[in-house]
Amino acid sequence: MKKITIAIDGHSSTGKSTLAKHLAKTLDYIYVDSGAMYRAVTLFAIENHFIDENNFDKDALISNIESVTIEIKNEGTFPTVLFLNNKEVSSKIRGMEVSNLVSKVAALPEVRKCLVREQRRMGEQKGIVMDGRDIGTVVFPKAELKIFMTASAQIRAQRRYDELIAKGETVVFDEVYENITSRDQKDSTRADSPLTQANDARVLDNTNLTQSQQYTIVMDWIKALID
Ligand code: C5P
Repeated sequence: MKKITIAIDGHSSTGKSTLAKHLAKTLDYIYVDSGAMYRAVTLFAIENHFIDENNFDKDALISNIESVTIEIKNEGTFPTVLFLNNKEVSSKIRGMEVSNLVSKVAALPEVRKCLVREQRRMGEQKGIVMDGRDIGTVVFPKAELKIFMTASAQIRAQRRYDELIAKGETVVFDEVYENITSRDQKDSTRADSPLTQANDARVLDNTNLTQSQQYTIVMDWIKALID
């Protein structure tokens, strides 16, 4: 069966990763959560005191960017296990501290250049599902299937809030809502690789769709492309 590249972009907390993981598992494709890579670089910047909520020493991060190693291990089971400079940080990169700073780090062209290079290398053999903000527009502009996911901000914040609470984090709904809407704003308006829908992307608005309905819709699209 023909192997393709599947690019999934969209707003924050639209369930891109959940859908992408499910598809990758069914198709036996590689799954790459590109957001986790930007989160890992952000954690590196926090741990090295290059960034906090008031300051950002961009030059210090840029001059150290090549020393960052990110290793993603799917290990057959999901979710993604991620190592930053050989340290397992899978949970740490999901916390609010990283979430609140990641869009500033992701706006730096030097960071993007480095991560996009790595993402393209991962997709050289096709048979990959990658989700993020610029996958269909910048990383894999020739992807056979491009999906743009969206949903109402209220629903997205509620889903994210429930997820964080289930993990035992102490969060308030308004903070989660503010985080996802401000990330969308920053991600959509930055100069380098803003979040936009590729001309040839198929839109999946999942405000009123269950995970299994979304999966069925997308699997139908995929079957038509690979059969
Ligand atoms: O996907 P996730 O919400 O974990 O991504 C975290 C952040 O990483 C996004 O808000 C965005 O700032 C950045 N990102 C990006 N380009 C990607 C993936 C994520 O700029 N391809």
